[in-house]
Amino acid sequence: MRDPYHDLPAFCNSGRKLFRECQLAWLLGKRGLWKRPPTEPMDQGTYFHLLKLEPEKAADWLAKHPQYTYLNASKKYGHEKGDPKAAFRHCHAMVRAIERQPLAMERLEGEHEVVLTGEFNGIPVRCKVDAVDHTRKWFSDLKSCAELDKEDWVATRDGWRKMHWIEAYEYHWQMAMYRDILRQNYEGFDAAEPAIVACTKQDPPGVAIYRFTHEDKLSEALKDAYATVQQMHEMMQDDDPRPTRCGVCELCRVQTITRCMEV
Ligand SMILES: [Zn+2]
Repeated sequence: MRDPYHDLPAFCNSGRKLFRECQLAWLLGKRGLWKRPPTEPMDQGTYFHLLKLEPEKAADWLAKHPQYTYLNASKKYGHEKGDPKAAFRHCHAMVRAIERQPLAMERLEGEHEVVLTGEFNGIPVRCKVDAVDHTRKWFSDLKSCAELDKEDWVATRDGWRKMHWIEAYEYHWQMAMYRDILRQNYEGFDAAEPAIVACTKQDPPGVAIYRFTHEDKLSEALKDAYATVQQMHEMMQDDDPRPTRCGVCELCRVQTITRCMEV
């Protein structure tokens, strides 16, 4: 099925992040030759997201992913045929956990799944914002995570570093890009405060709101995003592009195995 948002001829934050991680995987993806396979945790995040923000689409999504539902009813375990398996049933508990938190619910008010396009130095960019509050002039993204304030190991230019998952996933870049595209579309969003409403996959789930209030970090990230989008644009225009490869992602691992087979 074609997805009108992903078909927009514009760069987005997840493309920018992939370009930074592995230019080869990004370029082959752009050419329709490679797709990063979704993992079960990613799919769990997608289902949770749908349940909260577009509940009318959740049942249909689950029906299209039968690997996450029970094939048969079981009296012993108390589930019916087609019921979601534990990790996906737990998404319903995560949504209820958010709904018990007035501050989290307040951050998710407004228009949902807002698709916007804009430009960085004339190069088309796009984003899909989870919740835009046109009255309060703020916007939010809904995320699921392993646990609040968990730290992940990340490969940086200075070697491996342990950092908060918000930093590890470069959410300052995402928020800075979203705000800039919002600013290009609506009045009064120049200094809009971004936030992440996060819910953990733990049982019971934890809920937190991460407010992005460090303007210097956001402007630094936006400057960097403009430069990266420029590089992405140049690579797309190049008849003989030389993408670098990370050597560790799914694509690079598959290609490494192929090369070994040939010797
Ligand atoms: Zn790679």
